[in-house]
Amino acid sequence: MGWGFFAHQRINELAVFSLPPAMLVLYKSQQAYLKVHATDADKRRYIVAAEGPRHYIDLDRYGPPPYDWIPRSWQAALQQFGEDSLLQNGIVPWYIPQMMKQLTKAFQEKDLDKILHLSADLGHYVADAHVPLHACSNHNGQFTGQEGIHGLWESRIPELLADAGFNYWCGKAAYIRDVPAFVWQIVCTSALAADTVLRAEKSLSLRTPADARYAWENRKGKLVRTYAASYTKAYQQLLGNMVERRMRAAIHAVACCWYTAWVDAGQPPLTALVQKRPKENTILPDTGKMIGRVEE
Ligand SMILES: [Zn+2]
Repeated sequence: MGWGFFAHQRINELAVFSLPPAMLVLYKSQQAYLKVHATDADKRRYIVAAEGPRHYIDLDRYGPPPYDWIPRSWQAALQQFGEDSLLQNGIVPWYIPQMMKQLTKAFQEKDLDKILHLSADLGHYVADAHVPLHACSNHNGQFTGQEGIHGLWESRIPELLADAGFNYWCGKAAYIRDVPAFVWQIVCTSALAADTVLRAEKSLSLRTPADARYAWENRKGKLVRTYAASYTKAYQQLLGNMVERRMRAAIHAVACCWYTAWVDAGQPPLTALVQKRPKENTILPDTGKMIGRVEE
């Protein structure tokens, strides 16, 4: 999944404010679109088989850090590991640079639908790369008896606590000189944080009785078992402000990626596109081409 629906929508929505005026003119007018479609990439996982691996990378499967020896180029990675193994362990850091190239092309072609579609999806993958449990094979605590931790970190904490004090202000978008290096820095930071994410919850759960860990909540007329608010807050405190920091970093990174794709396209004026209306899709269709050999 990546961040829950709430966080994904919030990240795409707020990234807009970090853009320069020449981009803001279009992105602000399409902010609702970028928000609504922030989660399409997750919905597509149920429809498109190739979608899954784009959302994560199990870095621990490559051995201990540092991960500077892993090829940053998809072609080189293909040669070294083979496609099956790459897809099995997740490809998010290779997929994001590909998407940015597609977005640059869309800007050059002044194709509104493609610009919005790719921006919404790109925002999703960049946000996912910031989630520690998306950079680690024990992604839902399934190896350590912590099933549910994925949703606790990326959905429960943001939904419960983000609007009660998260500081989202991340400054202006900056140009990314080396996109693969930028993305790998993000996933490596996530991978290093995964250990803390798992260990903190383990220690908290060991000193919290089960009936204080969970609560029942009424959601649309159904009783759903969820992490108790007090447990969620205690976990968030143990993590320092990690969820807030990763969310804020994601907002900034999304804006930087959109901005860089636009600069690489030669900074085309976007004002003329503001009058146009994008096609309405319930779920944005697949744009991926990350199978086999791709141009780099
Ligand atoms: Zn995702």
